[in-house]
Amino acid sequence: MPKGEPTGKVIVKPEREDAVKRRHPWLFSGSVAKIEGKVQPGDIVDVVSQDGTWLARGFVNPQSEVPVRIATWKPDERLDEEWLWNRLQQAWRRRKQLGIPDQTDAFRLVYAESDFLPGVIADCYADFVVVQIYTPAMDKRRDLLAGFLMELLKPKGVFERSDFDTRLREKLLPRVGPIKGEPPPERVTITEHGLKFLVDVWRGHKTGFYLDQRENRLRSEPYLKGERVLNAFSYTGSFAVYALRAGAKHVINLDTSAEALRLAEENAAINGFAGAVQSLEGNAFQVLRKFRDEGEQFDAIILDPPRFAPTKATVPNALRGYKDINWLAMRLLKPGGFLVTFSCSGMVSPEMFQQVLFEAALDAKREVLIIERLSQSRDHPILLNFPESEYLKGFVCLVG
Ligand code: SAH
Repeated sequence: MPKGEPTGKVIVKPEREDAVKRRHPWLFSGSVAKIEGKVQPGDIVDVVSQDGTWLARGFVNPQSEVPVRIATWKPDERLDEEWLWNRLQQAWRRRKQLGIPDQTDAFRLVYAESDFLPGVIADCYADFVVVQIYTPAMDKRRDLLAGFLMELLKPKGVFERSDFDTRLREKLLPRVGPIKGEPPPERVTITEHGLKFLVDVWRGHKTGFYLDQRENRLRSEPYLKGERVLNAFSYTGSFAVYALRAGAKHVINLDTSAEALRLAEENAAINGFAGAVQSLEGNAFQVLRKFRDEGEQFDAIILDPPRFAPTKATVPNALRGYKDINWLAMRLLKPGGFLVTFSCSGMVSPEMFQQVLFEAALDAKREVLIIERLSQSRDHPILLNFPESEYLKGFVCLVG
């Protein structure tokens, strides 16, 4: 077990020192002048300036585009077992302080850098904790981490879903399976704001459910009570269930994934709304056009597409995609209908997204009012010195 002692030093280029001092938790490869000492991926290193001044301490992965993830700016802080335990405890305390476990048994317990624990995401789903590990440092501490989570929350088991792209960039192989305790069942039942949802933590997106949208589901509920609601990019139909509770008569879940749609039907059924949802398997870009050609109309539309802009280079295309679906959705709304629209591309700022909506409204020839501005749920807090931790933005629009 690593003892919390640095095994090497990473010397920062003078022109990049400022970023470390301004507490950005990532040190990019272009900022590193030299790595001193025999460091293995996952070791602890001190980050120092060219003249040897101590700046920060973190975990190293020489094979990554982000060779150091800084974990502390306090010279006396050791990155040992106690450190890990304390960070987990603090993350849990923050969730309780915000009253989150009173509203749901499914929430993000650890949001990596925002909880001062780079390389770890831990999501609670009723009796199970699902973790994503994306650095060699946390890979080495997997058992310790899972043991601490068992101790802290007393779940039935800790399960790993480390099967996503960022791991490959760290030269780590995908890993899925139980770490400690019982393996989770095929479907875990969670209760969110009094509604039940089935979550496939083995194969579902992310760790199984879009926890980052939880508070937006509740905030948008009052706007979704119309006769006909379209839930585009529905995944397992969470927004549909809120719409039905609000009084919507008929909700269409539209997604490319047949598996997600099947679960969406079950999610409506277990909440007592079996007859009121319809599944439509298809590409939203095409289906929205088809609806327009057929003269379909809706009282409310939810647009929650996947991340269109994973990199800076893809932003212009992504903006065109956002404009396209939003323009079409505005066209499909009855006058006075609500559009609940999101972008989860971190590269697209709220201002850029608002500009896209403005252009979509012009093209659709509709008067659009912003009624609410939405962000990610409070269990995904945004760390001020790490703007990358902000990615989800949304608007509730009244389309006249
Ligand atoms: N609103 C959901 C999360 C949506 S995630 C929730 O709160 O649970 C985005 C979804 O869009 C995924 O389920 C994915 O399968 C689907 N998707 C991706 N591309 C699509 C497309 N072109 N048309 C329709 N659905 C698409």
